[in-house]
Formats: sequence, C-alpha cells, structure tokens
Amino acid sequence: MFLLGDAAHLTPPFIGQGMGAGLRDAANLAWKLAAVLAGDLPESVLTSYETERRPHARALSCSELVDRKAFRHGLAGRLCPNALLGDGRRLDHVAAGRFAFVTRRSPSDKVRATLNDRDVVLIVARPGDELHRWLRRWRAYGALVRPDGTVQRAGRRVIESIN
Ligand SMILES: Cc1cc2nc3c(=O)[nH]c(=O)nc-3n(C[C@H](O)[C@H](O)[C@H](O)COP(=O)(O)OP(=O)(O)OC[C@H]3O[C@@H](n4cnc5c(N)ncnc54)[C@H](O)[C@@H]3O)c2cc1C
Repeated sequence: MFLLGDAAHLTPPFIGQGMGAGLRDAANLAWKLAAVLAGDLPESVLTSYETERRPHARALSCSELVDRKAFRHGLAGRLCPNALLGDGRRLDHVAAGRFAFVTRRSPSDKVRATLNDRDVVLIVARPGDELHRWLRRWRAYGALVRPDGTVQRAGRRVIESIN
C-alpha cells in the first residue's frame, strides 16, 4: 500500500505546494509500478518511492535509482526542467512517460541506435535552449532523465549505463 498526496504529507494551504507535491508523488511512483508490473524492474525498487519522496522538499538524493557516483557536479537526483524544445513542445510532452537522454552534443549513430533499441527519447539541446543552459550550468554534456523527470545519471558514462 502506498500513500500519496495529502494522505502522506498534509501541507498548509498558504505554502501553495500541496498539489505539486502530490503530483510529484504520483509521477515518482507510477512509472516504477508500471515497470515492476511489466517485469522490467524488481519489486524492491518500490521502496525507493518513500526514500525519495520523504525528503521531497529537498532534491531527491538517496535511492538506488539515482546514481550519484558518476556525478561530479551534483546533477543526480535533481529534476530536469520541463523545458520548451525547439519544436515548440515541452520535454514532458516529447518524453511522454519514457526515459529521455538530454544532451548538448549530437550523439553518434551507434549511440542513437542504442537509445532507439531501449526506447529512450533523444533530445539534443541547441545553444540558446533552456536545456542547453541547464546542462552547461551543471557542466554536463548529457543526462539520463527518468519518466518522473528526475535525473538518474549524468557524466561521461551515461550512455553505458542505459540497459
Ligand atoms: C485553501 C487551500 C488552498 C490551496 N492552495 C494550493 C496551491 O495554491 N497550490 C498547491 O499546490 N496546493 C494547494 N493546496 C493544497 C492542495 O489542494 C492539496 O495538497 C491537494 O488537493 C491534495 O490532493 P490529494 O489528492 O492528495 O487529496 P484531496 O484533494 O484531499 O483528495 C482526497 C479525496 O479523497 C476523498 N475521500 C476522503 N475519504 C474518502 C473515503 N473514505 N472514501 C472515498 N473517498 C474519500 C475526498 O473527498 C477527496 O476528494 C491548497 C489547499 C487548500 C485547502
């Protein structure tokens, strides 16, 4: 049984964050449940829902679904901005509940094929784009973004981590 929203953390109305926090609960849990039910992830990952959402006021930072080792600049566990992309759509719209690889370098054909095989959405950020500025700010060339918008991994070996 999982508790989400106000049932898990009643928030005073004047903070104006209760609905957002509840939606993030749902975003965090929904893709994990779907993956476990599909047999793509072990049931044990469901414990990461509470681990990650309990300190929801802070950046998500302490579960096995966030790999901090390869992050020299602290991008792991942070939310990727739901940025406007070059075609006028938002990241959430394009990713549509799938993993996304956001990069400011155009990947090789081999990497593109790997992403395609794994059904990972490729988003190449161009100079001037919000995502390009975001990656530069964190000195990252690419980031693997989970279906709930959380950065799972970034850094040089991010592509190798996609399996
Ligand atoms: C005045 C006010 C202003 C707010 N302003 C903001 C804001 O600006 N921004 C923001 O992000 N959040 C705001 N919030 C908070 C936000 O409204 C809540 O955090 C959010 O609605 C919680 O959603 P929920 O689905 O978890 O719970 P709820 O919206 O409380 O939904 C729970 C539902 O369960 C139903 N229910 C209860 N018991 C049972 C039962 N036994 N059987 C069946 N159904 C049951 C209830 O009727 C209800 O429909 C505000 C809240 C208030 C009161």
